[in-house]
Amino acid sequence: MTGKTPPVKSNHERFKPEKPGWEARGSEGPVKPAPFGYVRAASLDQVFDLLARYGEDARVLAGGQSLIPSLNLRLSAPAVLIDINGLEELAGIAVDDGGIRIGALTRQRALGDSREIGEIAPLLAMAMPYIAHPAVRNRGTIGGSIAYADPAAELPACAVALGATIELCGRDGPRTVEAAAFFRGLYETDLRPGEVVSAVSVPRSEPGWCSAIAELARRHGDYAIVGLAAHARVEGAALSDVRLAFFGVGGQPVRASAAAAVLEGRAIDQAAVAAAQDALEDDLQPSSDLQANAATKLHLARVLTARVLAQLAEEAR
Ligand SMILES: Cc1cc2nc3c(=O)[nH]c(=O)nc-3n(C[C@H](O)[C@H](O)[C@H](O)COP(=O)(O)OP(=O)(O)OC[C@H]3O[C@@H](n4cnc5c(N)ncnc54)[C@H](O)[C@@H]3O)c2cc1C
Repeated sequence: MTGKTPPVKSNHERFKPEKPGWEARGSEGPVKPAPFGYVRAASLDQVFDLLARYGEDARVLAGGQSLIPSLNLRLSAPAVLIDINGLEELAGIAVDDGGIRIGALTRQRALGDSREIGEIAPLLAMAMPYIAHPAVRNRGTIGGSIAYADPAAELPACAVALGATIELCGRDGPRTVEAAAFFRGLYETDLRPGEVVSAVSVPRSEPGWCSAIAELARRHGDYAIVGLAAHARVEGAALSDVRLAFFGVGGQPVRASAAAAVLEGRAIDQAAVAAAQDALEDDLQPSSDLQANAATKLHLARVLTARVLAQLAEEAR
């Protein structure tokens, strides 16, 4: 190559903060993201006001571990980021007789460290080593994972397997949605314009219930090619209420109900594993993606079914 690369000029100078106190990020020199305004929200009301005012042009900022990379790659160029990290209402873990309520701002790392989560919803703790790396888990939040709804993410599938409830709030007040109904398609959820995820509630895992998770990824910490989160009652040797939630095989977590049905009332032995694997043909219609073709994904789903059932058997012992 000959000649000099022309200097990169930033267009960020054109960004003018709308209000005193607003900061224009990236206004000096060339930076990766397009210019955006930034507000550290002082209340949920302020969040709702900004979401109403900016609509699609606003993004809620939680841990930033998916949002900031997407800004840096210019896959997204919102006018304003609404930082919710200071909002007490969205933080904290609370236990009651029914289960555990995990505030949206709870860091992924805390899911692995919390004694209460380990006791009441151990599947969430088991999922942690599969999510990215410690630096990402230190910032990434459960609410961000749920709202972002990556089809290969662990926490949405865990929420479905555990029968969790997603708590949402907006100008019109709070509402709750079953996790199984919340994830509607590729990065698509039941979150309405102007709403935020406020918490995830998980029913208490009673004695006799066991959880397991496994996934296959190219490198440790990468998103899964295929993964499986499972939750079931194991009484004596027999399985019941089996919930198998696959991730990486569709636009959202996929409940394998045919495989679960053939396992109902059976002991976990070779014949039961083979029957569940065969039933996956009815449950899963994976699309090929950059990671693997559809046939490979179905094969990996069979492999994971055997591994997860072995884990459940081990847990039950
Ligand atoms: C290198 C790397 C590897 C990763 N690997 C994995 C992995 O293997 N598995 C995995 O699951 N994730 C992985 N992630 C993503 C990570 O888990 C993110 O933390 C998570 O997806 C988003 O959480 P966050 O709090 O960082 O959300 P943010 O990045 O702040 O936000 C993500 C999206 O959700 C919205 N949002 C956030 N919080 C709320 C809320 N409370 N209400 C409404 N909307 C909200 C934002 O507006 C934005 O659109 C990886 C990330 C990186 C950088």
